[in-house]
Amino acid sequence: MVLLSDKRNASSSTIPDPFISARSNAPNRQAIALISDHGDPAADIGREEAGGQNVYVRQVGEALAKLGWQVDMFTRKTKADDATIVQHSPHCRTIRLTAGPEEFIPRDRLFEFMPAFVEAFRVYQAEYHYPLIHTNYWMSAWVGLEVQKTHNVQLINTYHSLGAIKYQSVPNRPAIANTRLKVEQQILEQANCTVATSPQEQEALRTLVSSQGHIEVIPCGTDIENFHVIPKSEARSQLEFRPDEKIVLYVGRFDPRKGIETLVRACAQLKASPANVRLVIVGGSDPTQPDGDERLRIERIVQELGLSNRTTFAGRVGHDQLPLYYTAADVCVIPSHYEPFGLVAIESMACGTPVVASAVGGLKFSIVPEETGLLVPPQDIGAFADAIDRILGDDIWATRLKLQASERVRRNFGWSGVAAQLSDLYRRVLAQSITHELLAPRQLDGLAGAIVVPTKALTQVS
Ligand code: UDP
Repeated sequence: MVLLSDKRNASSSTIPDPFISARSNAPNRQAIALISDHGDPAADIGREEAGGQNVYVRQVGEALAKLGWQVDMFTRKTKADDATIVQHSPHCRTIRLTAGPEEFIPRDRLFEFMPAFVEAFRVYQAEYHYPLIHTNYWMSAWVGLEVQKTHNVQLINTYHSLGAIKYQSVPNRPAIANTRLKVEQQILEQANCTVATSPQEQEALRTLVSSQGHIEVIPCGTDIENFHVIPKSEARSQLEFRPDEKIVLYVGRFDPRKGIETLVRACAQLKASPANVRLVIVGGSDPTQPDGDERLRIERIVQELGLSNRTTFAGRVGHDQLPLYYTAADVCVIPSHYEPFGLVAIESMACGTPVVASAVGGLKFSIVPEETGLLVPPQDIGAFADAIDRILGDDIWATRLKLQASERVRRNFGWSGVAAQLSDLYRRVLAQSITHELLAPRQLDGLAGAIVVPTKALTQVS
């Protein structure tokens, strides 16, 4: 058995010191790698290209570490003064690899730097022999497939977003579209397992991407200790919102695909007395990035519709304060044109706030219509207005929705349960790889005999 502590002594000078010291007390843990090319798990969430994927990778990583794994999460370094390594907990850290300029690069132009990402990752792979890599998004999947050409690694992939769906509603496909679609097919067919976060995503993969490859449905989760029901009056007084207003909430990035325009236009059509309704829009933006442009566009529409006095742009809000916003609201609206999962839906429901959402993607899985919220056709302004009115106009029904929503999340979408399912999947994949190794030994890096399956994980899931 190769112990991690033995490997420390042979460390190469290219690995920064904190990496080595972080290993010293973990000889019996199996190291695994999570790759998230553009979704930095250590970043502030809620700005340009920092949303659900960052939260997913970070939360899954930390929960897996609690289950007994040593988790290294790799992402691309986008700021020169960002730390190369961020230690989140004793056995979980983010490692930022230099691949191209250390600056923000939009996703559509990122692929050309992925070969450099692979090279930077290989330094760690050669040192720590991760037997399993969980990739996130198609570019990370490409990295995984490249690493697999030279190392004996098992691949798990979560898509987070599917080009095959996204491009259906985009008039001009970016130049990278064909490459993306090809890689999305390749990873589905070649990965040991694809994690679909909803049955709807599984169905889309089968109908739009490939009939081959193994898929398991494991949903996204939320931190139910942080997102939970608190008294509305308390939340409102802390945020200095009036107790007598009806609050309609949006939480998320400024991105045209999020459909904020639909929500603003729906608010202008509500039957509820406009003087009693406040639209609160939570989400960060940067005036130098595309999300800054989208925020300006939304602000202009708010102004044109005469809603400026009734609208609050709260800016980016951290997860420490977000439960207050969800609880203070009467309804949370998710008007996305396309939403692979939609963490905001389960965060809101966990806080007992019903959701009105587009009937798309994972929202059709997390929200039970008439029980935890309402689903309406995407971009249908009138349907959104009617649905919001229904919830604002019926306090008794809204209270029932509140109870059912929080109960649904508590039962199905806690991170620890989600991580236990992933941990079980990893163990099965690794066990299978050992069997294959015994039957047909390969001359690649990463001996099956070196795998240490966490006993804690074994007991928690068996
Ligand atoms: N978020 C946040 N602060 C903000 C806006 C959003 O922390 O100001 C978080 C939100 O709580 C959620 C994530 O960003 O965890 C958005 O995830 P979702 O899956 O809903 O959308 P995505 O950004 O992945 O499209």
